[in-house]
Amino acid sequence: MAELHQIVAGLGADITVLGPDDLASRDPGWDGANLGASALAMPASTEAAARLVRWCAENNVQMVSQGGRTGLTGAGRSAKGQVILSTAKLAAIHEIDPLERVAVVGAGVTLQALQEACAPHGLEPGIDLAARGSATIGGMLSTNAGGILAFRNGVMRHRLLGIEVVLPDGSVMTDLTRVVKTSAGYDLKHLFVGAEGTLGFITRAVLKLDALIAGRASAMVGVKDAASALRIIRHFLGLSGVQLCGAELMWQDFARFNATAHGVAAGQMPLDAPAVLLLELASGDGDSAREMLEEGLGALWGEAGILDAVVAQSLDQRDRLWHLREDTETIYRHYPGAASYDVSVPASLCDAYVARIREGFAAIDPALKPYVFGHIADGNLHIIFNRPGTLDDELSARVDEVLYTGLAGQGGSFSAEHGVGIKKRRAYELYADPVKRAVARSIKQTLDPKNLFNPGKVVAL
Ligand SMILES: Cc1cc2nc3c(=O)[nH]c(=O)nc-3n(C[C@H](O)[C@H](O)[C@H](O)COP(=O)(O)OP(=O)(O)OC[C@H]3O[C@@H](n4cnc5c(N)ncnc54)[C@H](O)[C@@H]3O)c2cc1C
Repeated sequence: MAELHQIVAGLGADITVLGPDDLASRDPGWDGANLGASALAMPASTEAAARLVRWCAENNVQMVSQGGRTGLTGAGRSAKGQVILSTAKLAAIHEIDPLERVAVVGAGVTLQALQEACAPHGLEPGIDLAARGSATIGGMLSTNAGGILAFRNGVMRHRLLGIEVVLPDGSVMTDLTRVVKTSAGYDLKHLFVGAEGTLGFITRAVLKLDALIAGRASAMVGVKDAASALRIIRHFLGLSGVQLCGAELMWQDFARFNATAHGVAAGQMPLDAPAVLLLELASGDGDSAREMLEEGLGALWGEAGILDAVVAQSLDQRDRLWHLREDTETIYRHYPGAASYDVSVPASLCDAYVARIREGFAAIDPALKPYVFGHIADGNLHIIFNRPGTLDDELSARVDEVLYTGLAGQGGSFSAEHGVGIKKRRAYELYADPVKRAVARSIKQTLDPKNLFNPGKVVAL
């Protein structure tokens, strides 16, 4: 009897299919269980994708959508008997319109490919994150990705104008609107943003673009705490003629760990400060951005509690500063599979939050230490533990309690920008509003009554 991948391969020459042997030799990406499926299918068009989904629906075959496999919540995991719907062959940039400032792209286009295609038009997608080389527009929409520029440009939801989605029964919802204003009934495109592949397979999107400001200047600023960082951020956000386009905070443990891993000596970076703020300004040219950065930091020095600062004097030095913040693999190389978390905290409460969770972890186990860093301007903190492997169930539940108790009441979120996937399923049931969860279940039931799209992730039926 033919195996699943052989049957799927028979659905048309416009669907490229890999079987389990091929998959076993491929890089699974950021989760070792991503490629457990019996087949990975790469449709070359929306029509091919719809044919594939329809066949799977008629034959009760479960599907897991995948883009760049950089997701961090286990939402891309797949298992035997399932088919992966890959966007690898839906990677065309269909249009960049410099007057309307919109891009029409296939879901498999990587963020970096879009950034590179926009640059000659003096434009950029207005969103950026460290996984830019692999993360795809489809995956970023499905996780409602945020990243470095979210504090000024919003998250993926705010960049999206139009969408095309293959629904779980194989029908295609086409809403390729390219205008900001459309008040024509329920704005259903947003259902698929942050759904982590549980409601449909995104094939195409229309995104808003912004002007690319080429002149850049960066600095690492040693500060007392997050409150100091926020005072500095407020100053630069209020300046005219310059744009703040990066404000990342690394608490000392993280900054020191990464500086050591990258061989950065004390003196090249403010490692004695309790926290290090990485700032980036954009202006017409790099020199004026650097001057404004130096002037601003000088003026703020005493008032904002600046302890030390290093301003990059070349692009190369700028890149090295950013690498220290963005390269989190150093920690995972040291502590393979370390548990990591991603929360949103109202920015003004970040200092109190970090102090509280440190105390909470110490009470559980004094040896359990968090590396804390994140997109401080919007209060998004990332936390990685100093031990390899996932935490056992009991420890994990206690850690969740420390991290998430009271967060919703303060206006924060137990998941900022990575999603729920599998890793935050328990937190979703415990910390998301029960009425909201019931509505989510009924939406899932309506669109995917057979629970064939990414079952077991986000919403439990
Ligand atoms: C080093 C590193 C840094 C990161 N930094 C950030 C950051 O700053 N901000 C941030 O928000 N995230 C960040 N991430 C997380 C990650 O990059 C995002 O979650 C990204 O949006 C996932 O895109 P992807 O193409 O890799 O999706 P995948 O990992 O392939 O999939 C992620 C989810 O989307 C679904 N999916 C994928 N494609 C589709 C589709 N076409 N239709 C429907 N569902 C689909 C999958 O089923 C899965 O649920 C980082 C990750 C890494 C490894």
